[in-house]
Amino acid sequence: MEHGVWFYDHEIFIRIGFFFGTLFFLTFLEYLFPKRKKLGYQRTRWFSNLAIVGVNSFFVRLIYPLLAVDVALIAQQRGWGLFNHFHYQGWLAFFIGVLILDFAIYLQHMVFHYVPLLWRFHKMHHADLDFDVTTGTRFHPVEILLSMGIKMGVVIVFGISYLAVLAFEVILNASSLFTHTNLLMPKKLEKVIRMLFVTPDMHRVHHSIYRDETNSNFGFNLSIWDRIFGTYRSRPRDGHLDMTIGIDEFRKPKFLKLRWLFAIPFIRDTEE
Ligand SMILES: [Zn+2]
Ligand SMILES: [Zn+2]
Repeated sequence: MEHGVWFYDHEIFIRIGFFFGTLFFLTFLEYLFPKRKKLGYQRTRWFSNLAIVGVNSFFVRLIYPLLAVDVALIAQQRGWGLFNHFHYQGWLAFFIGVLILDFAIYLQHMVFHYVPLLWRFHKMHHADLDFDVTTGTRFHPVEILLSMGIKMGVVIVFGISYLAVLAFEVILNASSLFTHTNLLMPKKLEKVIRMLFVTPDMHRVHHSIYRDETNSNFGFNLSIWDRIFGTYRSRPRDGHLDMTIGIDEFRKPKFLKLRWLFAIPFIRDTEE
């Protein structure tokens, strides 16, 4: 932990700085090089999608006395988990720790798609009618809370270090914004990045209205998990510019409002 003290002391600034820095930078890029024409409702969407970040942070702090990073410190002090058991927290453990967390989040994402009760909460993320940087912050509080619990479990089992958890969370926040950006990227650059990382074009397929496309490209950071486990789809069948974003249910613009975001898991929109 010696070399982690600086990070520990500045943790909140690192998190907030990276989040807002990435958000402003990508919003600017999106404005300069937009990929798709949007349906609209920009003001409602942006307000709801960003306001829910505040709500989610509040709930996490309220419900969990400790965060995943704190759990990592306790696990290290008590010798819990694989890496701590062997007293190994070198750079390789850091690297493998981040990799394990990324794989866990890939698996978790898949489970949220296939378990009907969990899909109710996750489909709120998919009910956005457009796809832009703010879609990357739109998650139901219940999904965020469950996800934090799962992450803590993984940290304890493997004894992942404080720094690896902090790095992973900061990277995940930034990459969740990046993979939802409505960004026109040079084709060659996109192809190179996609070899290892999830790009906006890759993740947009996951926001298609077709269920088979929604159930593909589950990765958040690394694109390798989808390739290894056969859930990779290179492009949407209707093309990136003509594809419909969202799910069949909840296509009325009123569902983009903040209060409806909380309600989506508990209701069904059957009327036409
Ligand atoms: Zn999903
Ligand atoms: Zn998404």
